[in-house]
Amino acid sequence: MMKRIVVLGGGESGVGAAVLAKVKGFDVFLSDSGTLQDDYKGLLQQYDVAFEEGKHTEDLIYNADEVIKSPGIPDMAPVVTSLLAQGTPVISEIEFAGRYSKAKKICITGSNGKTTTTSIIYFLLKNAGLNVGLGGNIGKSYAYQVATENFDYYVLEISSFQLDGMYNFKADIAVLLNITPDHLDRYDHNMQNYVNSKFRITQNMSEDDCFIFCSDDEVTMAHLNKIVLKAQQLPFSQTGEVTQGAFVEHDKLRARYRNCEFSMLLQELSLQGRHNVYNSMAAAVAGQVLKIKNDVIRESLMTFKGVEHRLEAVLKVRDVLYINDSKATNVNAAWYALESMTTNVVWIAGGTDKGNDYSALFDVVKDKVKAIICLGVDNEKLHRAFGNLVPHIVDVRSAADAVKTAYTLATPGDTVLLSPACASFDLFKNYKDRGCQFKEAVRNL
Ligand code: ADP
Repeated sequence: MMKRIVVLGGGESGVGAAVLAKVKGFDVFLSDSGTLQDDYKGLLQQYDVAFEEGKHTEDLIYNADEVIKSPGIPDMAPVVTSLLAQGTPVISEIEFAGRYSKAKKICITGSNGKTTTTSIIYFLLKNAGLNVGLGGNIGKSYAYQVATENFDYYVLEISSFQLDGMYNFKADIAVLLNITPDHLDRYDHNMQNYVNSKFRITQNMSEDDCFIFCSDDEVTMAHLNKIVLKAQQLPFSQTGEVTQGAFVEHDKLRARYRNCEFSMLLQELSLQGRHNVYNSMAAAVAGQVLKIKNDVIRESLMTFKGVEHRLEAVLKVRDVLYINDSKATNVNAAWYALESMTTNVVWIAGGTDKGNDYSALFDVVKDKVKAIICLGVDNEKLHRAFGNLVPHIVDVRSAADAVKTAYTLATPGDTVLLSPACASFDLFKNYKDRGCQFKEAVRNL
């Protein structure tokens, strides 16, 4: 009998998986407890995939031979626990698509910097003239591209939720940027579970494969010292020299792989800030492993444009620069944003707090922040954390009010930085909506 694949969730990932499963000849059914976007419905119809929305019909789901779960659905969802209890394998879209793709896979994970680094590496491979696709948590799903394209390389952004459903998948090059607490609500509030999840990026790797990681990251290093890894280890660091991998020496980024040496001035990097030095180092090493010429690596790191909502310079108004870093949805990301500021800052922060501990920000806030504008429904925690450190703390409920207030508090030479350290769901649809409303308000000044 034809093997039955049930896909849970009908967003980019789920619809891509369903299309691929159909193309590969399975009996496919997609189920989403919410509503599907029209374009996704159209695609499912085009490929003749059976689907339902607004419910999970047990009879149509529990007879699956294998289930592909979208990353947005938690393992604790009743439909998932029931499937696992009856022994049905539940995998992620990336695991499924990996079975049908012979392309070389460069996979990027970490708590922060995934999208930026994935985009830089993709840009690098493109510039090198390689036939490369960009996927995972970014752009079109990996599965959809495996079904419809024929790339030699994929650069994939992989979240821990995707990694959780990955078993036999193997990356040719894995990049682990950092591990700081995030999403712990999905990991039983146990940091080790989250660390284990991130390290799944290295599973099944052999001596021919490369693991690129940040050796300044204590959590990464502590775990790496506990496990056995066959892959070649290529660290990157801003605190010390490495024999293979990347490091900073004076004003230069240097990278070494086998006998090849690469170096460029830090000031030539198109993306500035300490965190972007890390991201650029990871990309440079990946480029070296793929035998991309130094000139191409340098040119790419010099001209990469940045990604929307990540330290994105919006406008200068009356000599005050407005920066949109709406994607900084946790404390660590906001720390790097604040740390990279070279002027006084009016800081717009707040939103849905994911159990934040703000103490890591005290020093940098004391140093640079002259006013905080709290853009959230409940700003009590921010007041408590920073009340004694910053002279002005103001509450607002909209991006427009945040920008207007910032305009009155900033003086020429200052920077207004939206880098919330929180999720956006209390006042906005998502971080993109928050960033776009902020930019719109700045343009209306
Ligand atoms: P992700 O895809 O992992 O969420 P992004 O590239 O979208 O990461 O960046 C998210 C936020 O994290 C941005 O606000 C950015 O300024 C910050 N950031 C980027 N790279 C790093 C890094 N290597 N370490 C810490 N923070 C980073």
